[in-house]
Amino acid sequence: MSDGARHIERTFVMLKPDALERSIMGEILGRFERKGLKLVRLELRRVTKDLAATHYAHLVDKPFYPELEAYITRGPVVACVWEGIDAIRVVRNLVGATDSILAAAGTIRCDFGVDKTENLVHASDSPESAASE
Ligand code: UDP
Ligand code: MG
Repeated sequence: MSDGARHIERTFVMLKPDALERSIMGEILGRFERKGLKLVRLELRRVTKDLAATHYAHLVDKPFYPELEAYITRGPVVACVWEGIDAIRVVRNLVGATDSILAAAGTIRCDFGVDKTENLVHASDSPESAASE
């Protein structure tokens, strides 16, 4: 909401394979909990190549897509839904900018992320993507 209106929203978050490999899933989920967001769904799953291509449809033609596909399919992920006031924006702020090197101090990606690909977390960027994801 650009005009300051605030609403209870739900947002889709996915902890990517590096979050599980590095055993920081609890740390990341804890940040959403401590912010006051409510966990409404959580599931351990695998991302297939087909699902990766759907989820990252806006990126399949990019030169880095093969690397992104290998990353997101290489191990289990945790898919979850969080609810709260302005949850989509709140979660994007907690997660930080795409490139972990440039992400603001105190964000999940700044504190734990490695680079532009291995950045630990996916979070919906709009009500439309939250609903479809
Ligand atoms: N990504 C990448 N290289 C890039 C840009 C993005 O590997 O140059 C990966 C990265 O894992 C990112 C995901 O593709 O999180 C989705 O990209 P998007 O631009 O949607 O960034 P996000 O919304 O995750 O910040
Ligand atoms: Mg995105």
